[in-house]
Amino acid sequence: MSESMNPRTVAAANGIAAEDTFGAVTPPICLSSTFTWPGFGRKGPHDYTRTSNPTRTLLADTLAKLEGGAGAVVVSSGMAAIDLVLSQLSSDDIVIVPHDCYGGTHRLLLNRRDRGHFKVRFVDQNDQAALASALKEKPRLVLIETPSNPLMRIVDIRAIVAQARTVGAKVAVDNTFLSPALQRPIALGADFVIHSTTKYLNGHSDIVGGAVIAADPADVEALETWANIVGTTGAPFDSFLALRGIRTLFPRVECQQRNAQAVAEFLLSHPLVAACHYPGLPSHPGHAVAKAQQSGFGAMLSFELKGGEVEAGRFVEAVRLFCFAESLGGTESLVAHPATMTHAGMSDEARKAAGITSGLIRLSIGLEDAADLIADLDQALAAIDRSVRSKASA
Ligand code: PLP
Repeated sequence: MSESMNPRTVAAANGIAAEDTFGAVTPPICLSSTFTWPGFGRKGPHDYTRTSNPTRTLLADTLAKLEGGAGAVVVSSGMAAIDLVLSQLSSDDIVIVPHDCYGGTHRLLLNRRDRGHFKVRFVDQNDQAALASALKEKPRLVLIETPSNPLMRIVDIRAIVAQARTVGAKVAVDNTFLSPALQRPIALGADFVIHSTTKYLNGHSDIVGGAVIAADPADVEALETWANIVGTTGAPFDSFLALRGIRTLFPRVECQQRNAQAVAEFLLSHPLVAACHYPGLPSHPGHAVAKAQQSGFGAMLSFELKGGEVEAGRFVEAVRLFCFAESLGGTESLVAHPATMTHAGMSDEARKAAGITSGLIRLSIGLEDAADLIADLDQALAAIDRSVRSKASA
């Protein structure tokens, strides 16, 4: 497949009909943990699956093409992917990270910082003064998460890359919430793209996986070497499923984001909803930047219920079509309560600083019919309304 192919074509067809023995159209899965050597001192293309494996290599090649990188390293989870990028830092290095990132990322950063592996600066990356002052410390890495989990805040990747370059810092973007179907950070100047392939890339909520795509071949090699040393490379079976999911990435995401726009507009106008965070809404503070750097607004959103934890608890127990579960990016719609689920590991103080309240609900919008999704949210909101009114009259 030529380098210039549209990512849509890469997703559907990379590696198709390339198998010689049987003429298989779908690339076969290769589960072997070890490979024969053609002769003494002569290795074949693969020797041991921790180091390299044909199925994982095809997934890495597909991801590198989709993101426009020099290469990709496929690992066992999104957290392993973030950790792989962080593994390149040493004890005196500073990493600038968003103050409102995914809770697991926050926990990883604190744990590695506390073990003296590097220094961390949590910064609101939309606060120009705070960012400029952190950059004065000459960080080695700036980690970006846009849109952020769960508040859907948008940061301008190009602008941050330009600022990071002036102090010699590299930039890594967690692109999990959008996938390369909607945002390609390397084209915007980033050095690394991080994915939890668990989410949109696999898209069917049946694997946990991760990947790092790097713009510079030397970085690809360094990351590949480290993933092999520590043994976090991804399993062939998970790679096979992720590749299978990627075949339908574009149509899935397009349908999901259409549904998300309809759901966001419904929530915005609902009297029990205090705020709806979806970059596709013109009222969203990051709408213009999202429009400029993304090719769609995605299918994740969050909203603030009037009330707090009690109302949030009633709501998540009242939905029928949405599943009350963590994770995102699958074909099915999910509802989560970040303060007690995905971001429960953050201290109350850190959650408060990030703006994650007890009334915040996060939705991952799936492929169901938009009207059915809205009807489900409507009846769950009505259930809160009824319970509030019956309390008031008691
Ligand atoms: N990055 C983001 C933005 C996430 O939302 C998640 C998980 O929800 C991760 C990374 C971690 O991915 P995984 O659960 O595959 O380790």
